[in-house]
Amino acid sequence: MMICFPQYDLKGKTVLITGAASGIGLEMARQFAKSGANVCVADLDVEQAEIVVKQIVSEGGCALALGMDVSSEVQVDVGVDKVVTEFGRIDILISNAGIQIINPIDKLSFSEWKKMLAIHLDGAFLTTRAVLRYMYADKLGGTIIYMGSVHSHEASPLKAPYVTAKHGLLGLSRVVAKEGASHNVRSYVICPGFVKTPLVEQQIPLQAKEKNISEDEVVKNIMLGNTVDGEFTTTEDITQLALFLSVFPSNVFTGQSFIASHGWSMK
Ligand code: NAD
Repeated sequence: MMICFPQYDLKGKTVLITGAASGIGLEMARQFAKSGANVCVADLDVEQAEIVVKQIVSEGGCALALGMDVSSEVQVDVGVDKVVTEFGRIDILISNAGIQIINPIDKLSFSEWKKMLAIHLDGAFLTTRAVLRYMYADKLGGTIIYMGSVHSHEASPLKAPYVTAKHGLLGLSRVVAKEGASHNVRSYVICPGFVKTPLVEQQIPLQAKEKNISEDEVVKNIMLGNTVDGEFTTTEDITQLALFLSVFPSNVFTGQSFIASHGWSMK
């Protein structure tokens, strides 16, 4: 089935997307650039971020690569300063960088637990704080979008730190919505179901091994078993939601989370 998505106009806006060298962030970087935004491609993998920027520029877009570990206070603050020096301000933050760890709680190391919370929660806090300082200072405000997950609302075995971190983002986003309202800042959490990115590809064999089932069974029964149609959510679906929220002109949805999961979760 051919799907036609709406077009958005983000000319003159600057978006900072973390984890934009791969998967969902990469698709968002491309599509936000096609909508006219200046796109800052921030990632731990700076070489890949530079490749993405070259591709966007070759297609007529405007982009900047930033090597950034979102769990590093210094790297986040320096990166955000660089964006503002280059483009004047930041209108939209998409806090998207993330990892996955598959392990039952009794086998999970403390360092795995801390790594997950550092990337997802410290990263969300540090990037939020850094952009809010600019959004508040010039009184123009902005939009902050966190990449949550169906796991912001549901639990699954083998994913304790991920589920914990993704639930935590709902709390941060709600506080940002309340504190940010008087500064024209809106905040949202996007909660995708399974999207076929490197993050998901790498967990298929791990889940198969841990549960002693085939990789096909992992996809069919565990990942897509609770959807209404057995389909993956796509990077395009998630990008369209991010674009819609970025241009939406009132506060009516601020503080909300949006599940996009083919009916896996309907909260
Ligand atoms: P991905 O692995 O394709 O991309 C993640 C990117 O984040 C990579 O480019 C990686 O280098 C970067 N990254 C990792 N640690 C980082 C750090 N410390 N600092 C900066 N960048 C870092 O994964 P994806 O599937 O595109 O996931 C993106 C986000 O979407 C994650 O937050 C993930 O939890 C969330 N999500 C994914 C799915 C899915 O099914 N793929 C579902 C729900 C939510």
